[in-house]
Amino acid sequence: MPFHPPQFPTDSHGWQELLPLRKPTKELSGSHTYKWTIVGAGLTGLACAFRLAELHPNDKILVLDARKVGQGASGRNAGFAIAASHFPGGYDPKEMPLYQRVRRINQTGVNLLRTQVTGFNIKCDWDENGFHHVAADAKALAEHDHYRACLDALQIPHTNLEANELAERLGTSHYRRGLHVHEGALIQPAALVHGLADNLPKNVTLAENTPVLAVQLGAQPNLVFPHGEVKTDTLILATNYEAQKIGFLSNRMIGSTLSGSFTRILTAKERESLGTLKHWGILSLHSAGATVRLTNDGRIVLRNAIEYNGGQLLDEKTIAQRQTIHRAAFEKRFPQLSHVPFEHSWSGVEGITANGTNFFGKQAENIYLAGGYNGSGVSRGTSFGRAIAEYASNVLSDLVDDCSVCAPAKFLPPRPFLDIGAALTIRSRFSGVGLDI
Ligand SMILES: Cc1cc2nc3c(=O)[nH]c(=O)nc-3n(C[C@H](O)[C@H](O)[C@H](O)COP(=O)(O)OP(=O)(O)OC[C@H]3O[C@@H](n4cnc5c(N)ncnc54)[C@H](O)[C@@H]3O)c2cc1C
Repeated sequence: MPFHPPQFPTDSHGWQELLPLRKPTKELSGSHTYKWTIVGAGLTGLACAFRLAELHPNDKILVLDARKVGQGASGRNAGFAIAASHFPGGYDPKEMPLYQRVRRINQTGVNLLRTQVTGFNIKCDWDENGFHHVAADAKALAEHDHYRACLDALQIPHTNLEANELAERLGTSHYRRGLHVHEGALIQPAALVHGLADNLPKNVTLAENTPVLAVQLGAQPNLVFPHGEVKTDTLILATNYEAQKIGFLSNRMIGSTLSGSFTRILTAKERESLGTLKHWGILSLHSAGATVRLTNDGRIVLRNAIEYNGGQLLDEKTIAQRQTIHRAAFEKRFPQLSHVPFEHSWSGVEGITANGTNFFGKQAENIYLAGGYNGSGVSRGTSFGRAIAEYASNVLSDLVDDCSVCAPAKFLPPRPFLDIGAALTIRSRFSGVGLDI
């Protein structure tokens, strides 16, 4: 049978455009042997590398990525490091153990990131003043009450906000109610992963632009890449939705493509029209609603399009078309800024499962995997990355216990049924989104 190597396309859009060029590490070539190998240098893979290095200071650890650091979801997300998750669909006291477990995982992730951002002096606009969760239409308004009940039950500090209070803070009268949850951090996502990758411990080697094309199973898994191979005692996959390209999680996880746009930097006068807060992040209480930010450098960033594109980024032409959707949402919220152009648009792919579960654990002999966070993987991915390093090292911890409790993923049908089902599932997320888009 002919061998079709997996493809790892990328583009130059997104948050990276706002940063100085970073020189990637060298592509790996030749034959090597490593005790530990991680595939994927997103937040999961990097957190795993830091923890492995701590646990095994005398071992050599290799991290491979098919792309440059920052080109995966970890460098393309909206930059919300969530401490208090919103569980859509109603607050159920019987689910308290789940809420508490997810909260511990999130908090651990935020704490780890804070320590690293501070310790390495990573300039990623870290802003730990929480987020605004907002509602404009009926379905999101119902979620407001559910989320508030959950926050109350978990004793998570928050402030309830009516329309006029939101307008005063954020400079938009679009929303009818909201909650300011005091915990959680906003970040410049690409700057965060660049900073983490550039501060990896000495016993970690990072090789970018090195796509793993195949994994040969066995007591010592063998990884094949374009110009060489690596034999490793332990392999950790932190490949998000692309695990299936090398034979793992087939029919368990898909990539859903999101897109958004950045305005140019607003003038001082334009910023004055945006209320009292200097920078902020808005999450919709409808799961398909728009995510909006006022960044530290004074841009509005809005992401509101989600679609199934076969787990791929959008091409130039499609991004240009999606800009119309971003634009309409932007002008609806900020009519006073309707003259402000977008500077660029971007897309990113997030790993989702049919039942919203995550993946954590052993996949085959000496092969472990963590990932699939359904659009909420900044803090969670950091925790899962750390935990999978501990799990693969036989280290017991509360974090491993928490991450281990993942429901099995629902099976997804093979193509072409997968494509139809995935497109329908993603479209169904928009049900009742109304004014929150
Ligand atoms: C547009 C967008 C907005 C989002 N917003 C938020 C948000 O605000 N807050 C939040 O918590 N989450 C958000 N998410 C989700 C979050 O970004 C992800 O859950 C998280 O970044 C996943 O991290 P990861 O390290 O597991 O995966 P990734 O960051 O995708 O890293 C996986 C890496 O593996 C590499 N790889 C894959 N296969 C191979 C291979 N065979 N060989 C070598 N390398 C390989 C890839 O190149 C990639 O760099 C968003 C996602 C998107 C797309």
